[in-house]
Amino acid sequence: MKERQHLVIQGKTYELAWVDHIDGGLGEKNHDMLRIIFERGRPAERTIATVLHEALHLISDELVLALDEDTINRLESGLYCFLSESGVDMLPLIREPGE
Ligand SMILES: [Zn+2]
Repeated sequence: MKERQHLVIQGKTYELAWVDHIDGGLGEKNHDMLRIIFERGRPAERTIATVLHEALHLISDELVLALDEDTINRLESGLYCFLSESGVDMLPLIREPGE
């Protein structure tokens, strides 16, 4: 099981970096560096929700939506529930497809 290395969000390819510890969260994004950092070793469901969260931030930035943290948190939860209850396999968000 190899951790995913890249994700394309709004046409931009982001490098995913996996680290052992992040202060104060499970993920972090750097729009200018096209980089998203995740904490490894967390339950897959938690990490997938974090990927959705960071992607929503980047989509919000890219589309100049100016969504605040609370709105992003609510969208993360709503989107995660919708996709998982619809049977969508979200593992490829955190693992290399085909691994
Ligand atoms: Zn956030």
